[in-house]
Amino acid sequence: MNALNKKTVDDINVKGQKVLVRCDFNVPLKNGVITDENRINAALPTIKKLIADGGKVILCSHLGKPKGEPKPELSLAPVAKALSEKLGKEVVFAADDNVVGENAKAAVEKMQDGDVVLLQNTRYRAEETKNGEAFSAELGSLADIFVNDAFGTAHRAHCSTVGVVSHVKEAVAGYLIGKELKYLGNAVETPVRPFVCILGGAKVDSKLPVIENLLTKADTLIIGGGMAYTFLAAKGYGVGTSLIDESKIDYCRDMMAKAEEKGVKILLPIDCTITKNFPDPIDAEIEIEVVDADKIPADYMSLDIGTKTAELYATEVKNAKTVVWNGPMGVFENPILAKGTIAVAKSLAETDAVTVIGGGDSAAAVNILGFGDKMTHISTGGGASLEFLEGKELPGIAALNDK
Ligand code: AMP
Repeated sequence: MNALNKKTVDDINVKGQKVLVRCDFNVPLKNGVITDENRINAALPTIKKLIADGGKVILCSHLGKPKGEPKPELSLAPVAKALSEKLGKEVVFAADDNVVGENAKAAVEKMQDGDVVLLQNTRYRAEETKNGEAFSAELGSLADIFVNDAFGTAHRAHCSTVGVVSHVKEAVAGYLIGKELKYLGNAVETPVRPFVCILGGAKVDSKLPVIENLLTKADTLIIGGGMAYTFLAAKGYGVGTSLIDESKIDYCRDMMAKAEEKGVKILLPIDCTITKNFPDPIDAEIEIEVVDADKIPADYMSLDIGTKTAELYATEVKNAKTVVWNGPMGVFENPILAKGTIAVAKSLAETDAVTVIGGGDSAAAVNILGFGDKMTHISTGGGASLEFLEGKELPGIAALNDK
């Protein structure tokens, strides 16, 4: 798959056509009120383009995890209302518990060019996450053309991301997916060098496999966060009670040997911010010490990189021309343990290099710390961007038509 070679909404003529658009309207809700509209805003360029070109725009998305049953608190009704306001035109909400039901069919039947209909939460249907044939066909029966603009679910083969494609005439990428592919794809496939990749966070299991692919792409790999301690253990250091994946120690040793062979630099913490206990609650005031990376006492855990490490990492970022970052350097939710993450975020904010943030917690960290608008691109998909970095094919993108 060449992800950069997919047809987009710029390559099709939608005038008078029924266009089903898979969006990512998985917004946070509190008592039925949307608390963060970023995902809705991110979907607007594609929707506006299709309206302007005279398409009949049928939107769909999942919201939360209703687990295959109608759950009124996970209805997309609030999204329809927010969209109507943002677009300045009515978005008809087809409130069918079976998603493609009488309301949806009647609403689509009545559509004029430029009209917008929103279907109910696709995960009200149990087949959705299993890529079931019947629901895929039902979705496809509503439309002539399919547009996928939900990067956040592009790594999942579901009815509304993959199955539907074989039931329409054309399937193309929307602007949001196009933007993600452009920034992530160019950063990884044709980076301006030096290319520095920073990995952190706590999902050690899912993040360690990324390293093997990145060793073939990056000039330097910077490792921080919970990821670092399996590497330090592989170097023979005691890591106390820090996060570690015992089953991956040999893998880390292997990766360090491969990096040396390929001339790729792997930077690991040279000092660590340690505590006796994990803060509870997470932002509780705690006592910390900073020690050299090979001096973590047996009854302490490292919850952030140390000051010398923060400087080392910031200097490496300063010398880079492309930086991709996925995962915080420490438990950044606690201000006392956020210093390493702040130092790295600041170095990214200050550089002229292309900076791409790989969604999830690193995106949250960059935004909370106020550096969001200083980054070249912040991905909308944590899991999807990680699988992209791993070199995996994203099924929701692979399924789209090539140029
Ligand atoms: P992830 O979802 O993999 O990006 O992980 C993000 C989470 O990693 C955040 O909630 C951090 O608090 C956590 N984290 C970062 N560094 C550490 C560490 N050294 N030990 C435990 N958790 C960590």
